[in-house]
Amino acid sequence: MLNIRVEKTTTPKPLPTADNPLKFGTIFTDHMFVMNYETGKGWHDERIVPYQPLTLDPSAMVFHYGQEMFEGLKAYKAEDGRTLLFRPDKNIERANNTNRRICIPEIPADDFLQAIKAIVKMDEAWIPTKPGTSLYIRPFIIATDPFLGVRPSDTYLFIIILSPVGAYYPEGLNPVKIWIEDEYVRAVRGGVGEAKTGANYVASLKAQVKAHDEGYSQVLWLDGVERKYIEEVGAMNIFFKIDGKIVTPKLNGSILPGVTRDSCIQLCKSWGLPVEERRVSADELFEAAENGKLEECWGSGTAAVISPVGHLRCEDKVFQIADGGIGELSQKLYDTVTGIQLGKIEGPEGWVVTV
Ligand SMILES: *Cc1c(COP(=O)(O)O)cnc(C)c1O
Repeated sequence: MLNIRVEKTTTPKPLPTADNPLKFGTIFTDHMFVMNYETGKGWHDERIVPYQPLTLDPSAMVFHYGQEMFEGLKAYKAEDGRTLLFRPDKNIERANNTNRRICIPEIPADDFLQAIKAIVKMDEAWIPTKPGTSLYIRPFIIATDPFLGVRPSDTYLFIIILSPVGAYYPEGLNPVKIWIEDEYVRAVRGGVGEAKTGANYVASLKAQVKAHDEGYSQVLWLDGVERKYIEEVGAMNIFFKIDGKIVTPKLNGSILPGVTRDSCIQLCKSWGLPVEERRVSADELFEAAENGKLEECWGSGTAAVISPVGHLRCEDKVFQIADGGIGELSQKLYDTVTGIQLGKIEGPEGWVVTV
């Protein structure tokens, strides 16, 4: 049990008005949760304080060797006024898997959940209520030892910030164009690809810029060794419907295990659809597309929930998926997952947690 000290802001910011089209990750609420770690002392000094800049030593290890992790989940306002979290236990479990991989001390799951609930409760008034909107929750940990040398830090800061976010697609679901990257790679097995850490994102920037310049919104990564097998998209996992079967790359150590991915798999199975978690080569996709068997493709992630893919491009080959629109199953998954998140549809046991 944490004993959270609360220091309220004396200068609250105006809440975004209902007609303000919220962008993703640009506005932050009045408060943040902070907790320190020190070797020998453990996690301590848990507190909620006004949202404010940090003061760090320029030699703080996070700036030089990238020892940092993050998570991302959302809080939703249900019609009955309850504040709901979607599968926070999965994010917390993944956070500690990331921590173990990059030598950051773990945070007990109960304390982690208590911290999330406390900060969300504190700034509950910031949860937007228009369809498609939510409060994005960003927990993260940074290494703070003032030291230029490579080793795990002895001190850390754990912080949770909150950001009201709009519908990812203000006009409803919108198919995206995806660039299959065959030059740069994001991660390799044995690396940190399955950990949610900034290092994976810095590795992806160059290809993302390239894809954007070509008019593509996201990069689809191939495996780092053979550059043949599909891994995942920027910040989403990827699904295909090929000849009636749901296919998604198997978690192999270099793919981020998404909570939305797991939710899609469980829902599809509960609807009696065949789901295959296995290796999928880019060639298999092109062949399926040519034979008219690539029926749907979508990305899954907390930000957009479900992102239908209309086009894939690899080198000079461009493939349209079915009619380039939104697939039936993509739409059904979007409606079901968001319905569960808002408390409108009953989901599997334990998926929705009241704050
Ligand atoms: C966070 C993330 C995802 C999606 O995970 P969710 O838990 O579904 O939000 C997928 N890929 C990468 C690289 C990520 O960082």
